[in-house]
Amino acid sequence: MSYFSHPSTSNNYIVSTKYIFVTGGVTSSLGKGIICASLGRLLTARGLNVTIQKLDPYINVDPGTMNPYEHGEVYVTDDGAETDLDLGHYERFLDLPTSQQNNVTTGRIYYDVIKKERKGAYLGKTIQVVPHITDEIKSRVRTLGETGHYDVVIVEVGGTVGDIEGLPYIEAVRQMRYDVGRRNSLSIHLTLVPYLKAAGEVKTKPTQHSVKMLQESGLMPDILVCRAEVPLEPGIRRKIAQFCNVEVEDVIASLDASSIYEVPLLMLEEGLDRRVIEKLDIPDRGEPDLQGWKTFVQAVQQPESTVEIALVGKYVEHHDAYMSIVEAFIHAGAVNRAKVRIRWVQSEDLTASNVAERLGKVSGVLVAPGFGGRGIDGKLAAVEHARVNDIPFFGICLGMQCAVIEFARNRCGMEGANSAEFDSATPFPVIDIMPEQKNIKNMGGTMRLGKYDCHLEEGTRAHTAYGAADISERHRHRFELNNELRDQLETCGLRVSGTNPDRGLVEIVEIPENRWFVGVQFHPELKSTVSKPHPLFVDFVKAALEFQADR
Ligand code: GLN
Repeated sequence: MSYFSHPSTSNNYIVSTKYIFVTGGVTSSLGKGIICASLGRLLTARGLNVTIQKLDPYINVDPGTMNPYEHGEVYVTDDGAETDLDLGHYERFLDLPTSQQNNVTTGRIYYDVIKKERKGAYLGKTIQVVPHITDEIKSRVRTLGETGHYDVVIVEVGGTVGDIEGLPYIEAVRQMRYDVGRRNSLSIHLTLVPYLKAAGEVKTKPTQHSVKMLQESGLMPDILVCRAEVPLEPGIRRKIAQFCNVEVEDVIASLDASSIYEVPLLMLEEGLDRRVIEKLDIPDRGEPDLQGWKTFVQAVQQPESTVEIALVGKYVEHHDAYMSIVEAFIHAGAVNRAKVRIRWVQSEDLTASNVAERLGKVSGVLVAPGFGGRGIDGKLAAVEHARVNDIPFFGICLGMQCAVIEFARNRCGMEGANSAEFDSATPFPVIDIMPEQKNIKNMGGTMRLGKYDCHLEEGTRAHTAYGAADISERHRHRFELNNELRDQLETCGLRVSGTNPDRGLVEIVEIPENRWFVGVQFHPELKSTVSKPHPLFVDFVKAALEFQADR
């Protein structure tokens, strides 16, 4: 149900949803996703129903086929969409699931327009960027608004103003502002106000140029969010306002924060949410309720202890590849009043002879998800080290598969046990390709993706951690624990603690004799949010703290 009692009418459309378009200028990596998520949090805390959509100008249909070095983590939604990692921020900040609809790419837009053209949907017409591509973009944005679930849709336009591939999006936004009317839409521009040390001054020129470029495309920003290293003095704010045609209250400073979770509080201080509701004619029902959020931020900023956990993976030079795991550790740390320090361990460099030194003194080992054989031996060495020395261990997806391989080889005497992903001729394919995956030729969107149910066995770690018997988690993989070898593995002491009730697939394994040894076929990190830290991460960090205290 929408919060607004009287939908306003403007131009051709009846509008009950407000749209906020967020563009970025000057440079990439200014944290547009965090600004969108923070604004979303503030509006949600004012009682509004909010969702956030990301428009990605690249030509891939989705980021699922991109290398993590290229794109960072692929974030998977409940409905199995492989999406941009900013959607992870949206979910973590808003505590609301996103879906395929929340991520639009140029690839998908063109793909669908071309499919329609082949079907004859535009018969007789020449297909053009304007209006066909822009119409398709607009219809994707409106789809979310028209569900009737949201008072506000925040639309993050990926890339930087001036990028060639971003032009159709800017044009679509320009048109949408006309379609829905000025009172129902807002343009926020995120820009950089650099501080030049040699001159001892902050510089407004890049912002002026960026706004000018936006205006050349017909888009007038209503609010400027200025990323800056130093506070913006009133004189600078006035100058930006004057040269960029906004009011001085619409110049919002976004200073570097110690944690991304502090940003909503900084934006509140700057009055971003207030300006937004004023400009959009949203009734002010009082200050946002951020009590829980503040308590969380305080717990993050003032931990009572620190615990070091190794993250073993092959993309560790690029922390964005493990974004949701890093954030899940922050959430779980806060619950345990502790800071989790991650020791990034490159699996490719790890061998049986250096593992004790590389993983020396850590209080927990997490073996990360991944694809392909590179770094597998190092991951197996990490599993063995954790298992034999009874260090709390958490294996996620490929990490769980490595735990099963290591257990099969070293505890069940299955020499040469492996995953069919790395050795198709292995005598013991303890991890095997799912039958329905065998004949799949296309790479995009064809894995076991999205939300699946899982039933937990009583008396297991997983059951205790979740405090429930039936859960659901998100997946992204092609391979599975081989049920034909399951009995053999269980006889040697591996416990299957979670299975998919529909297909009997193994989702969680544990070694009960170890203090905390859990491997999960799914991706728990994708569901950890500020208000609902993931139970397995919380329990793992707790076990790591106990191990640290015992040692
Ligand atoms: N490569 C493995 C599979 O496809 C694991 C995937 C993952 O870790 N996400 O099953």
